[in-house]
Amino acid sequence: MSQEQRTKFKISKTPDGGIHHFYWCPGCKKIHSVRSGGQTRPMWTWNGSHIAPTFSPSVLTKSNIRCHCFIHDGKIEFLGDCEHELAGKTIDMLDWTDEFFERGD
Ligand SMILES: [Zn+2]
Repeated sequence: MSQEQRTKFKISKTPDGGIHHFYWCPGCKKIHSVRSGGQTRPMWTWNGSHIAPTFSPSVLTKSNIRCHCFIHDGKIEFLGDCEHELAGKTIDMLDWTDEFFERGD
């Protein structure tokens, strides 16, 4: 793939003009999403980059286990309060592939 086609997340537009960004979490081995724009809260700011995205503020997920991270410059910085093995570590985001939809456990 060329540089232009690479992306760290899949985009899905929301009815209110926002964007869902779906990305792979290597800590939970699941897809998480954040939303930017639109009217619905919670809402994150996005720096507009597909290759080195930054979302703010931090992302807290509590589906099965607690997962709390900052995403900046295409890296996921897992905070110490995560309940998975990557707590406290910073990991490069994987390029998005639709195979993630089948890979989640
Ligand atoms: Zn996670």
